[in-house]
Amino acid sequence: SAKANGRGRHTFFTTAMEEQVRARENLARELRRAIDHDQLSLVYQPQTTINGRKVLAVEALVRWNHPTRGQISPASFIPLAEETGLINDLGLWVLRRACRDAARWPHLKLAVNISPIQFRHPQFIERLASILSATGFNPHRLEIEVTENVFSHEDPLVLQMLQRVQQKGIRVALDDFGTGYSSLSYLRQFPFDTLKIDRGFIAGLETSPHASAILGTIINLGEALGMSVVAEGIETEHQASFLRLTNCDRLQGYYLSRPVPADEIGDVEIRLARQEYIEIDARKHA
Ligand code: C2E
Ligand code: MG
Ligand code: MG
Ligand code: MG
Repeated sequence: SAKANGRGRHTFFTTAMEEQVRARENLARELRRAIDHDQLSLVYQPQTTINGRKVLAVEALVRWNHPTRGQISPASFIPLAEETGLINDLGLWVLRRACRDAARWPHLKLAVNISPIQFRHPQFIERLASILSATGFNPHRLEIEVTENVFSHEDPLVLQMLQRVQQKGIRVALDDFGTGYSSLSYLRQFPFDTLKIDRGFIAGLETSPHASAILGTIINLGEALGMSVVAEGIETEHQASFLRLTNCDRLQGYYLSRPVPADEIGDVEIRLARQEYIEIDARKHA
């Protein structure tokens, strides 16, 4: 009967939802274990001078090497970590490991992504400071990357916290600039040291006639505001040569280097000094 069918469907959906919830709970438990048992690792992606020859900084990017599922992308487990609060411990693990690894590259700056939830934790700044002192890492070499979501709770404390971070000599970058609803208004609210232009603007260069005008304007804006400007997601020689004609300060993207394990940074520096770049095939990517 229709009634029985309806109930059957209801049961089906409930079961599917319950299964989803259970799967997430399992994954959260496994992530907890991963944080405690060194199943996380970091890779580093170089940021170079505008001519692409010299590495200036590396961005730390977390990876989860799951024993059965293989490598899980941060895009899928960072949101889970944020929902479950695990992001705080995960983020501290990342900072500690990155500051230790980066001791090998005293000539390079280190960029670390900080989730808005981690940033707003009342103890964040103290914990950050204690990691810096425990690892002996010079705060002037550190740049934290936040997105405009850090402002989403309209918490006036966030501005004070950003200032306190800068007062320690740590630089603050605005990541994924241009993807949100009111990116421009955040530039007025806080004096970011660095502007990272979202790769969407770079990807458009080959296809959209407006993209180069928009990109050029954003770079000039960052420059006028005294920020260091980073272009992310450089995949082709064409994109790199466009940027060479602008006031952009740093390039980052697969064309220069994929994110690599700490051991390989030295090799990447040698390769880039020889001007050997990796053109990414856009067709394989699409
Ligand atoms: P993001 O901070 O904007 O990092 C840049 C992402 O773009 C990285 O993805 C990087 O591998 C990728 N990428 C770099 N060059 C290119 C390119 O030329 N083309 C394309 N298509 N992609 C490129 P990944 O490592 O998968 O990280 C994704 C996001 O996850 C990051 O975006 C960041 O928001 C977050 N994330 C990564 N590691 C951490 C972390 O340690 N803590 C926190 N809170 N978030 C992290
Ligand atoms: Mg980033
Ligand atoms: Mg980004
Ligand atoms: Mg500049």
